[in-house]
Amino acid sequence: MIDLLLLGTGAMVPLPNRWLSCLLVRAGGSLILFDCGEGTQVVWRRFGWGFKRLAAICLTHQHADHVAGLPGLLHTVSNAGRTEPLDIFGPTGTAAVIAGLRVIAPVLPFDVRVHELEPGASFALPDGLRGNVVAGAHSIPVLAYRVERPRAPAFDPAAARALGVPTSAWSALQHGEPVAFEGRQVRPEDVLGLPRQGVAFAFVTDTRPVPAHLDVANGVDLLICEGTYGPSAKIETAIRNGHMTFAEAATIARDADAGELWLTHFGTGMPRPDEFIGEATAVFPRTRIGRTGLAASLTFAHGLEELDPVGG
Ligand SMILES: [Zn+2]
Ligand SMILES: [Zn+2]
Repeated sequence: MIDLLLLGTGAMVPLPNRWLSCLLVRAGGSLILFDCGEGTQVVWRRFGWGFKRLAAICLTHQHADHVAGLPGLLHTVSNAGRTEPLDIFGPTGTAAVIAGLRVIAPVLPFDVRVHELEPGASFALPDGLRGNVVAGAHSIPVLAYRVERPRAPAFDPAAARALGVPTSAWSALQHGEPVAFEGRQVRPEDVLGLPRQGVAFAFVTDTRPVPAHLDVANGVDLLICEGTYGPSAKIETAIRNGHMTFAEAATIARDADAGELWLTHFGTGMPRPDEFIGEATAVFPRTRIGRTGLAASLTFAHGLEELDPVGG
């Protein structure tokens, strides 16, 4: 299961009723945060997901509205009792930014390990999740993230019996290891069915649309994408500032065959983004306007289901 919780949906500066754009993810016993603007830890506290289990932070880029909340958050995580390492992923230059922010948070009871990712990189996240990134197009380097939980092919007991595989060897085959018995060898592919679809989401913000977004969002259950500008008439401003309109985000969701689209990173000039949802739904009907507390679970059995954001 992957649980996702939108903490904030704003661009540039936090407003009294709108926190900065970020996403909290829960997988197994671990938490993963995507972006960390000013005030992230304040809104996070509302939902009771705890801080100690924060194992990884994925940063899209180094603008303040995506990183300025880090020093305070690191202190809160240490107050919560974390001693295990914390991994921070981000584009080239992330290590220097973290080093700068840590001038005011130098002593922590856990290691902070920074990993600078090249576009196209694939990397491991907690609880068996796989991440990969592509480059976007913004005023500075930016990464878009895809995260998925792969699913093993189904084991075919009838095929195993037909090959005479002893039941004691089934587990190894299910885990992808060949087994030898009675002078013969059986390969996992002899007793496993076709690959099965896992679950996946993508987090795309602070970027113009680029073709690689169709790769990170390809077939995801949920695409969380910036829509800094609601009206398509703002396209020139979006191009100038390296952002997207609602319709552009919806076009990525449609062309990538996403299950659902949540819009986020709303510009400060757009107090009521829901007024413009028609700009997105005309292109991709399964669009929702992001808000603090919008949450969902992704499971093999049910795909995307709405989730009560409080507790856990
Ligand atoms: Zn931003
Ligand atoms: Zn930015």
